[in-house]
Amino acid sequence: MSFEEIFCQDKAIDILQRAFASGRWAHAYIFAGPEGIGKFKTAREWARLLLCESPAVKDNFADSCGSCRSCRLFEAGSNPDFAHIYKELREFTEFGKGKPPPVDLPIDVIREFLIAKVSRKPTLSQRKVFVVSEAEKLNSASQNCLLKVLEEPPEYCCIVLLCTRLEKLLPTTKSRCQTIRFGPIDESRIIEKLKEKGLREEPARYFARLAQGSVGEACQWAQLELADANLYKAKKELIDSIVSYELYETLDLAQELLAESKKIAAVWTNLDKATSKTDINRRAMKILVGIIISALHDAMNLNVKRTKEAVNFDQKEQIEKLAARFDAEGTAGKISDCYRAMRWIESSVNEKLIFEHLLLNLADSDTIRA
Ligand SMILES: [Zn+2]
Repeated sequence: MSFEEIFCQDKAIDILQRAFASGRWAHAYIFAGPEGIGKFKTAREWARLLLCESPAVKDNFADSCGSCRSCRLFEAGSNPDFAHIYKELREFTEFGKGKPPPVDLPIDVIREFLIAKVSRKPTLSQRKVFVVSEAEKLNSASQNCLLKVLEEPPEYCCIVLLCTRLEKLLPTTKSRCQTIRFGPIDESRIIEKLKEKGLREEPARYFARLAQGSVGEACQWAQLELADANLYKAKKELIDSIVSYELYETLDLAQELLAESKKIAAVWTNLDKATSKTDINRRAMKILVGIIISALHDAMNLNVKRTKEAVNFDQKEQIEKLAARFDAEGTAGKISDCYRAMRWIESSVNEKLIFEHLLLNLADSDTIRA
């Protein structure tokens, strides 16, 4: 991997390149933008470059050399001057053993894996780099704990916060960091990439559109599809069902949805051993809820005669039926029900209940809602 291989984030990389060339890089950055558009990859390459003993510079573009001791250790995941900080590290904190996976990024993780290590000088390189994933999950205690380091980081230190929702960071956190924005990626480029991976035109277009510029998510779905999770087929069936199911079928459909999400999660677990099963289960459920949301959005756009291209371009008839069933206001209410389900998924509510509740709300019955 090198900077050259990062997909379509030239603007952000250019800012870092100029900072590196001038030697005036910030000691604290926020890489802001949606999930799956290359923030982590860029942070890794940036870290590798800062730590490299003899960076290669060509046409004003610097990259790590790939062969010095620092680069080799980095590749092996054991460079002592690089730390990746994420919420699951709580398991390895002093009092974290055996606790369930955290929802927030807990203060213990920040204290033990960042604050305690920042003050120790680099061991191998001239610098030290800390990359914090999901910074939007830093609770206010964790952020307050970070503030002092962000205010006066040691000269050798660079901290990068990866963040999907800037509004979740305190103004004091933001004002101490330089924010670099990562934009969504052009749909046509994502389609191209998915087809290169072996997807057919129609699923490639659908996943690209559903991903809304997040190449990482689109590639993840493509990978699942190619590993026989049959995600595309499942989405078609799901939309067929939500258009036409009756109230009495709700519980069965919820059961089917749950089974489908388990199936996706099982394939996913095989592909990604690094992520916890709990998180993979949640992500699989969220994909299904996301598919429902996309259909509702399409129906709403149709109702308000917005000309935006439908995500479900391949199931026009079903979307028309959905639009005929709920007016724009009704659809908006259903969409917010779906987002509530998303929040429940994050907060470990019983899985079957989540789908049952969601589908009962989606069914066209006001009496049930009450
Ligand atoms: Zn190197």
